[in-house]
Order: sequence, then C-alpha cells, then structure tokens
Amino acid sequence: MENIPPPAAQSLRPPPPTSKSPLPPPPGSSVTDGAKISSLRSEFPRLAQQFHPKKNKMKSIAIPSDSKLPIWWKCSEGPDHEWQTTIKNRLEGGGCPCCCGTKLSVTNSIAVLRPDVAELWSKTKNIEKAKPENMMLTAKKAKIWFQCPKGEDHLWQLKLEDALKEGGLECPCCAGKKLSVTNCLLTVRPDIAEMWLLGGENAERIPEGVMAMTDGTGWLSWEGRKWEVNISEVVRREGRPVPPPLPPPVIVEEEEPGEGEKIGVENSAEELAGGEDREGEKSVLEEEKEEEKVKKRNWKDKFKNVLGAFMGRKGM
Ligand SMILES: [Zn+2]
Ligand SMILES: [Zn+2]
Repeated sequence: MENIPPPAAQSLRPPPPTSKSPLPPPPGSSVTDGAKISSLRSEFPRLAQQFHPKKNKMKSIAIPSDSKLPIWWKCSEGPDHEWQTTIKNRLEGGGCPCCCGTKLSVTNSIAVLRPDVAELWSKTKNIEKAKPENMMLTAKKAKIWFQCPKGEDHLWQLKLEDALKEGGLECPCCAGKKLSVTNCLLTVRPDIAEMWLLGGENAERIPEGVMAMTDGTGWLSWEGRKWEVNISEVVRREGRPVPPPLPPPVIVEEEEPGEGEKIGVENSAEELAGGEDREGEKSVLEEEKEEEKVKKRNWKDKFKNVLGAFMGRKGM
C-alpha cells in the first residue's frame, strides 16, 4: 500500500528529509501497527505554537495532522486573539482573524485605533451595541451619532466611513451648517434679535431659528421702520444696525402768495383742462400741498426720534 501524502501545506511544513536514511520518528509521533501517524506538534511545530493551551480537550501532540476537527488557536498579539478553525484552514493560510481585522479584539477596536473618533462618539444617542470598544473600522456603513463638547445640541449622525475621513468629524453646528442654541441669532446677538421683524417678510422665521453667521438675509423692524439686512454682516458689526436713510425729501419752497402762485395755477393742467371754479380748484391744490408737508414733517420727526433713540442707546 502506498502512503497517501498529507494535504499540501508548504509554508508551515518542515522541509522534507533529504537524507536517504530514514529519520527517527519526530518526538510526539506515535506508531500504530507499524504506520507512522503525524501529530500536529510533530509535523507543524510552528503552527502548534498557536495551539490554544486551555480551550482544546486534546493535546497538540495527540491531534493527527490531518484532523478535520475544529481546533482552538491563540495568537500572541492580543489577550483575546482566540479563534477556532481546522488545521486544513490554517495550512491554507488562514491566520488570526483579530490580526486580519475580521474579528473584534481589544487591539483592533475603533476605541483603540481611532481615539479621535471615539472621543466624539455620542454616549447617549447610539444603541448599546454601537460603542467604539465594540466596533471595528470595517463597520463602514454603520450610522453613528457624534456629539461635540461645545453644545448639548451639537449632535449629528454620520456614516462611519465618512467620520473616518480626514476632517470628517467637523461639527456642523460649530461650522455654521446646522442650527444650534449656540449659533442662533438670539444667542449670538440678542440686541439684534430684539429688532427682528416677527411675521411679515420674515414669515415663520424667528431669531431662535436663524443662524447668526450663515443664514443669508432677514428683515429688521425698529421704531416703525422695517428693512432687509444681511444677517452675518450686521452681526459682525458692533452696535445695533441703523435703518437705512429715508429717501431724500422733496424740497417744497415756501411760495410767496401773488404772481408766482397765480402763474402756477393758471398754467397748471387743471387750469388748462378748463376748470370752472377757480377758487375751489385753488383751495384743493393748496390743501393737498399742505397735507404733503405735514406728512413729510411727521416722517422727519419720526426719523429724528429713531435716530435720537438710537444715539441715546449708544450713549452718543
Ligand atoms: Zn492575532
Ligand atoms: Zn460643535
């Protein structure tokens, strides 16, 4: 009968004997009915070094090298680098799964390999299983909540693979991309928030819901006037924003009663149209002019008041 050669395992096998004289059976081999039976320890001594000292029922010296039973192995790279597989799998190149990154270990968790990511890991928003100590870098698609220490509501969710990228853990609230109690207009500039137009052109937007530095334009209202501003611009400036100047008032000369007035009225459109009651026509025009003057005076006074109030507030 020909001996069937053991399965190929070139790397871990000792080199074949070159001497023609038969070698004495290696220590650990047993001889049964004259046939040499190789044990794991005798044939693959390097492999046998990873034979788990406690978890296997048999000793490596007693396990046939062609055994198909799963065996426990232990790697020296970490205290929990333990796994179970067949000798065949090991001979085919199967290494320690913890070192290969396919099995969680105290040496390959996110907590160990990426402490910067673990530091911002939310302790309250993630499920119990999703802890940096319990996960490996390979869990790329897992959605994780992160928490920035600068604000309680600086919370955001991200795929792990994005968090692992360089700069991937920028807090969106600190970056002004997400509303927060720390970056809203009410917190950043309560004095300007007080001037915020509620309703109207601002519709539903309120100072608590507007980011002070990144939310475009909004309407302010103060002392009866309302105007649109670039929010971040007014926030950056010191002091409260001032309403834009009123359009320049139309100068109405105090007209001398007499010739000028007469000519004006005579040449007016109303006159040319053939107004019958000249006296009545005249008084209507004058009333309108009077009204216009009063309106402008009122505006001027109002503006002065606003300006006065503003200067007063600024202590000018
Ligand atoms: Zn290992
Ligand atoms: Zn933040």
